[in-house]
Amino acid sequence: MLGSAVDIIGKLVGTVGAHLWPHQCALCLQAGQKDLDLCAGCERDLPLNNHVCEHCAEPLPSELPQPTLCGTCLKQPPVFDACVAPFLYAFPVDRMVQGLKYRGDLAYGRILGELLARHLALRHTRPDLVIPVPLAPMRYRERGFNQARELALPICRALKLTLSSSVLIRQRETLEQATLDRKERLKNTQRAFALTAPLAARHIAIIDDVVTTGSTVNEISKVLRAGGAEWIEVWAVARAQRK
Ligand SMILES: [Zn+2]
Ligand SMILES: [Zn+2]
Repeated sequence: MLGSAVDIIGKLVGTVGAHLWPHQCALCLQAGQKDLDLCAGCERDLPLNNHVCEHCAEPLPSELPQPTLCGTCLKQPPVFDACVAPFLYAFPVDRMVQGLKYRGDLAYGRILGELLARHLALRHTRPDLVIPVPLAPMRYRERGFNQARELALPICRALKLTLSSSVLIRQRETLEQATLDRKERLKNTQRAFALTAPLAARHIAIIDDVVTTGSTVNEISKVLRAGGAEWIEVWAVARAQRK
């Protein structure tokens, strides 16, 4: 009863709010679209990642035939089963991700999460559980929010999926993977993550802002797989090219 009253009030506030505070494009300040603080022109200009490795979504040279796998997946496929990353980590997506992460501009998290949700709505896949890549406790205290969770919130709201920020923890902070060589990367992420409770879900989606080397989400996938996950997807806003 209380739940439905809260729902009704929420819808009312949403409807009235949309008239009082119309959506404005966060990039060019023109009028936004329905339910999105981004105008149609700026959305059209976003750099799409649509020529990709079918397993890890790494951007591939356009001359390669599709579908195909990247060299890394051919040699040693990742533990996760699929990766969705609709955008390239390039302007202005890179600025939006950095604005969210380093300046705490949560509006960018909402926009990027909503864009990712629109893309995911076209896929016929419904994970039992959505897990944002966790931050180590110290980093979380410094930042005050987890950017992956900020992206996961609008996705779970739009697609009616279950979100858990507590089933997986990061036991220690890892260095920026991009600054390390392959050997250092493996050492860097090993045993960084752990489950806090037995996994009830079999189909899981991990949410991250940007996938670069894939080693963080792969390390998480190992933990989830050992915990009984049967199908693991990675959902990221953007995929950067490996160096
Ligand atoms: Zn715009
Ligand atoms: Zn690949």
